[in-house]
Amino acid sequence: MTLSIAQVAVDNATIHFDKLYSYQIPERLSTVVWPGSMVLVPFGRGDKPRMAVVLKVDTVDEQAAPKRLKTLHDAAPEQARLTPDLLELVRFLKERTFCTWFEAVKAVIPYGAQYRAAIVNGKPVMQNRLTRSTERVYTLVGELPQKPKPGPRQLAAVEALRKGPLTAHQLDEVGISKPTLDTLCKKGVLAVAQQDKALDLFGNIPFDPHPITLAEEQQRAYDALLPDLEDAAPHAALLHGVTGSGKTVVFLKLIERTLALGRKALVLVPEISLTPQMIRRLKSTFGSRLAVQHSALNNTERLLQWRRIQQGNADIVVGTRSAVFAPLQNIGLIIIDEEQEHTYQSESAPRYDAHDVAKKRAAMENALLLFASATPLTETYHAAESGKYKLLTLTKRYGGMPLPQVDFIDMRAELASGNPREVSNRMVRELQENLENGEQSILLLNRRGYHTVGMCVTCGHVLKCPNCSVPLVYHKPQQALMCHHCGHTVRPLPQICPECGGNLNYSGFGTQRVEEELSELLPTARILRMDQDSTGQKNSHETMLAQFGNQEYDILLGTQMVAKGLDFEKVTLVGVLGIDSLLFGQGFRAYESVFSLVTQVIGRGGRAALPGRALIQTTVPNHPVLQLAAEQEYEAFYREEIAFRKFGLYPPFCSFCVVGFVGAQEGAVAMAAHRFGILLAERAAEQPQMPLRLLGPAPMAITMLNGKYRYKLTLKCRNDAAFRALLRQTLEAYAQEKLPQKASVILDFNSDGDL
Ligand code: ADP
Ligand code: ZN
Repeated sequence: MTLSIAQVAVDNATIHFDKLYSYQIPERLSTVVWPGSMVLVPFGRGDKPRMAVVLKVDTVDEQAAPKRLKTLHDAAPEQARLTPDLLELVRFLKERTFCTWFEAVKAVIPYGAQYRAAIVNGKPVMQNRLTRSTERVYTLVGELPQKPKPGPRQLAAVEALRKGPLTAHQLDEVGISKPTLDTLCKKGVLAVAQQDKALDLFGNIPFDPHPITLAEEQQRAYDALLPDLEDAAPHAALLHGVTGSGKTVVFLKLIERTLALGRKALVLVPEISLTPQMIRRLKSTFGSRLAVQHSALNNTERLLQWRRIQQGNADIVVGTRSAVFAPLQNIGLIIIDEEQEHTYQSESAPRYDAHDVAKKRAAMENALLLFASATPLTETYHAAESGKYKLLTLTKRYGGMPLPQVDFIDMRAELASGNPREVSNRMVRELQENLENGEQSILLLNRRGYHTVGMCVTCGHVLKCPNCSVPLVYHKPQQALMCHHCGHTVRPLPQICPECGGNLNYSGFGTQRVEEELSELLPTARILRMDQDSTGQKNSHETMLAQFGNQEYDILLGTQMVAKGLDFEKVTLVGVLGIDSLLFGQGFRAYESVFSLVTQVIGRGGRAALPGRALIQTTVPNHPVLQLAAEQEYEAFYREEIAFRKFGLYPPFCSFCVVGFVGAQEGAVAMAAHRFGILLAERAAEQPQMPLRLLGPAPMAITMLNGKYRYKLTLKCRNDAAFRALLRQTLEAYAQEKLPQKASVILDFNSDGDL
């Protein structure tokens, strides 16, 4: 006798405790359980039902089988099974990011396609996360008998359905209810069927392809990429083009060629709501063979789009970070647009970088992977420069429009001259001028570190969140203080310092404050503020941007989100406020981020017939990073930056791994971090050839978050198999000493200093 045994990884494991468990596969499930199957298992002492994923199936002799094997309860249907490709990505995530198996599974399939374990009528069952993604559709299949005499509602139903099938919902809207429809079905007049809720997310965008004629530079880039697209080997390339040089146009041509080759294309964008223009262009060029995957979709929309891709009904997928897992097959081209954006790195488990997953997929599919940016990551440009990626450059804006003229406004002088406001006199004058000329302006305000906070005028005490070691932020509309990490809210607004009883003053610098100043100084200006507070509702981004595009507003004021990808012809003035806090921020990417942000926002101006200008408010007008950004001198910036990275030993000259420790008691957390360092160093000492530098332990910048203390170790290492094996051994030793009870461990290879 032989037994079929499934090795599974269960849901709700921790990284300290995520091993494979063996279960017997009962006869009735023997044809449905394969690697990748989602199954329900009895788990732990109480045999509670839990979801699990099958990673391996073995056939063993009964004698050789482990004793007291438990048996699988159930398995999900075929369509929920991870394909071999997705399973390989799960293994990749597990190996590279130190997540649990199930965290990886949850990353590669959307919420709506997942199952959960439950007990119904005392029986363990697996339930779809999402239930009603189908709906009833009625079709007219016969004539209404004249006897007995049909009622008015029956007549109305038949009349409505003469033009074609309708859903229950559509019929309900015209007053035809289910009982009427049931009766008609019984009489054989109507037929009913369940169908997936059809959703044409971008139905309002017309299919309107225009033939594209590439400009000379664009054509050269395209020609150079073509052989890498057409052969059956993986390649990577960087399209480095100044803002407005027509990178998107090159994408469209490449996608066209990919489809002509019978292959499919995956396009990643940093944040979908900020790039409606990309979807618009893809949709109008390629029509309905486009599917989208991004977090602004609700679970049903997302699932339906995913199923379309899974069933082979989409040729192009566009989406944010997680779209890199789209179940698209036969991929010929993967594009990562604005590749420098940090949104490509996941900040919760699995902490992956879409760049790495895309590389893996390109290798699996023999695809061309194309990174694109005006300001590539230093690592990416380094790889291109050293020949690992093919480098294509677009140096000119399409149509030959010059880049905006940039000027600095010295805010020290402004203060000295007695202007206490955040918006300088010069900026106000220029905004006024634009207003008079009927031209539009964009103002970028980096708010990080510039929130309005409550501070005591006597002792200088700043009101902080009791759960997180960060200042509480003042929200004017609610008249409340809020923690931007955990949501802790204080209302009514405190007026007296809890430390000394002095008066509290609410001051600071934020988009709301600037909006107020501007509406006072420019009373006729129509100002549109775009930030996380004003864009809470779904689609509000897109609506706002459309309104700005229709010139319903004169000034668009916002955080990072106004800096990227927008293409409005009437914008001739771009202003940058409060960039200094970013410039002096922590983390080795600070300069790179500032350079990129300033370059991007300047690039929003003067894109069409009207020339643009940009003004940067700063206290350090001579700072080389700002100067280089103003001149859009990416290469000069890169030379400085790569020298700094080499000198300080930062990526790409090493990998940077932050090991975080989180627990309830500060002393225990610090101790656990310290012990982890020792365990790691001991093991590393046995491999003296391995490059490794260990820094810390040190408290994280936000030492307390959600009531938990946080410490970190920083490792400069070479992220290869040997190093990851070393980390795994260290984690095991850490668990053996029962330290996870004191502080759980988080590993992050994408952080630039903190978690
Ligand atoms: P980037 O993504 O590099 O910032 P875009 O692709 O948005 O630049 O191009 C900037 C503008 O120039 C867009 O309005 C685009 O339609 C136009 N454009 C660029 N190349 C061409 C071309 N070959 N033919 C027609 N329009 C073009
Ligand atoms: Zn908090």
